[in-house]
Amino acid sequence: MQIIDKIYIDGAFVTPHGDESFDLFNPATEQVIGRVRLADAQDARDAIAAAKRAFPAFSRTSKRERIEMLKRMHAAVLARENDLLDAIVEEYGAPVSRAGWMARHASDVLLEAVKVLENYAFTRPAGTAEVVMQPLGVAGLITPWNNDAGFICGKLAAALAAGCTAVIKPSEMSAIQTRIVTEALHAADLPRGVFNIVTGRGETVGAEISAHPDVAKISFTGSTAVGKTILRTAAESLKRVTLELGGKSPFVVLDDANFDDVVPMALGAGFMNSGQACIAGTRILVPQHRLAEFEARVREEVARTQAGNPRDPQTAIGPMVSRKQWERVQGYIRIGTDEGARLIAGGEGLPEGVDGGWFVKPTVFSDVSNDMRIAREEIFGPVLSIIAYRDTEDAVAIANDTPYGLQAYVFGADKQQAREVAARLDAGRVMVNTLNHEPAAPFGGFKQSGIGREYGTYGLEAFLEPKAVLAAS
Ligand code: NAD
Repeated sequence: MQIIDKIYIDGAFVTPHGDESFDLFNPATEQVIGRVRLADAQDARDAIAAAKRAFPAFSRTSKRERIEMLKRMHAAVLARENDLLDAIVEEYGAPVSRAGWMARHASDVLLEAVKVLENYAFTRPAGTAEVVMQPLGVAGLITPWNNDAGFICGKLAAALAAGCTAVIKPSEMSAIQTRIVTEALHAADLPRGVFNIVTGRGETVGAEISAHPDVAKISFTGSTAVGKTILRTAAESLKRVTLELGGKSPFVVLDDANFDDVVPMALGAGFMNSGQACIAGTRILVPQHRLAEFEARVREEVARTQAGNPRDPQTAIGPMVSRKQWERVQGYIRIGTDEGARLIAGGEGLPEGVDGGWFVKPTVFSDVSNDMRIAREEIFGPVLSIIAYRDTEDAVAIANDTPYGLQAYVFGADKQQAREVAARLDAGRVMVNTLNHEPAAPFGGFKQSGIGREYGTYGLEAFLEPKAVLAAS
């Protein structure tokens, strides 16, 4: 049982002013494994004040000094990789195969920021003027539970690389992971107040950060509904806002695709992170004339997909993060059936051989039409929809007929044709015949999947404001 009763303000672990106690669960066993004392709005204000005090000196540090700090942060987070991996499995239920990637990602993003910074010019000419890219000020970084350490480190890396100071509000549901990251970052020995971490509820701590006039920038990852609330609140003080929100990503299978290769990829993209991924390819678009063949391959592949104990290396799908999330996903499976979609794998209830924990059967519907709720709404669980299309025009129209636009996938044998289809999709990222991540490429959404971009130069510039200096010669 872990008791987490400290937050991190002004370079020190302090007892929060807030006194609400919140239970942490192991979603694979439903056992309470920890208790966190949550911060409140007063704690958020204290953290913002510390970041504000630290900003003048920190914003004047040189690129070289910030690179050194990021390298120390990288080494410190890397040194806690095993602890992090263990916490990701224990508190979040990610299968070990996935948790390994997540634990490494947390330190990788710090090194990526170093690379970006090394090649970035903060000053550039524009006609006779000089343009200086200036850090925005105090950044509020609000993160979800589905990749706690990766989001904290990724957002913090970009903010600090730019010369901003930060107040981080992680999800209250991932406090054990947050504690490990906080201890690691503390060990990197940064100047006091440069980063502050206040775990508390969204409606209190998150809302205070979004509203506070001393916060210049919000970078948020989470649901579209909360993103809209933050944008409205932040408008009052015209904060710069980056929003990384939900998705309902199309996975377009072209008619020349080799299903032996593509079906495992489609399920990999759909069941990624136990289905709890914003970028999951949840709408699988398949040519009508090859639908039966595709379905048969999906059935075989799902039969081989293990859902259960996340510590078993054979497991591909772990539990949902909470009972609430489990119930929500079960609800969507019921909705799919009620809407007339045809279940070809999985369904309601626990997977075979599992008698507890918030596990969901890997579930695939076919005969889904794009106007059904299961095709339009983000389910955030291992529930996929196969949608048949007539021809490429139809596939592109269906793929783009969604309020979201975070990621899209196109798979086909003819690489040129696949690229042509990719060019017509409205998504911040399109994966053509690959599931591999590219950390230097911008990441973010079209439409209601968000505003702005993270990663690479685009991500750095989200924390900077151009200032043009026009001087008489
Ligand atoms: P969420 O929106 O419920 O919460 C995200 C964070 O916002 C949490 O820290 C929460 O406490 C905080 N929050 C809640 N209400 C708030 C408010 N009124 N003001 C300020 N902050 C508030 O999301 P979640 O359930 O933690 O995460 C799942 C969602 O995140 C999914 O919709 C998923 O698609 C999205 N997501 C997006 C990306 C991306 O990069 N686009 C990545 C991962 C997850």
